[in-house]
Amino acid sequence: MSEIQIGAPLLPILIYPEPVLRKLARPVTSADTEEVRRLVPSMFATMYKAPGIGLAANQIGSLLRVIVVDVAPKEEPAPIALINPEIVAKSEDMATQEEGCLSIPDQYAEVTRPAWVKVRYQDPQGAKQEIEAQGLLSACLQHEIDHLNGVLFVDYLSALKRNMLLRKLAKAQKELKSR
Ligand code: ZN
Repeated sequence: MSEIQIGAPLLPILIYPEPVLRKLARPVTSADTEEVRRLVPSMFATMYKAPGIGLAANQIGSLLRVIVVDVAPKEEPAPIALINPEIVAKSEDMATQEEGCLSIPDQYAEVTRPAWVKVRYQDPQGAKQEIEAQGLLSACLQHEIDHLNGVLFVDYLSALKRNMLLRKLAKAQKELKSR
């Protein structure tokens, strides 16, 4: 895929409660072409390095509606960069999967979301695309699109579970910093 460039600069991944993670990202326009061209390879490089299966622009401090995903990086790489992604259809059937987030490191919880989604987006060349997804890719796309709206997977948990998880995160981050 042309989006993958060896040696694209890695970007620091912002960790909760970084305020930009709660911000609404703005639509990409033609004026952003250069920025997107620079951003996408770096987002892929950063995601693979982490390693993770998805990354949204908010997580590296950009407020452009850009996400990158690859749910099977080890088997058969299938990188997808989605510009201005939008869920245009979803199933009534729900599915529950364990989720984590590079911005909420080492914390995992089960999240229930529509099992199937159809997403419209533009590729980095600006062409209109559509993808239908189920299973892990469906959850991943929904998780990453949520990021562009300032939503995190912990928002789907009960207040009790969320507070427990975020307390564990804060403790782990504090220990990391004191080392
Ligand atoms: Zn995430």
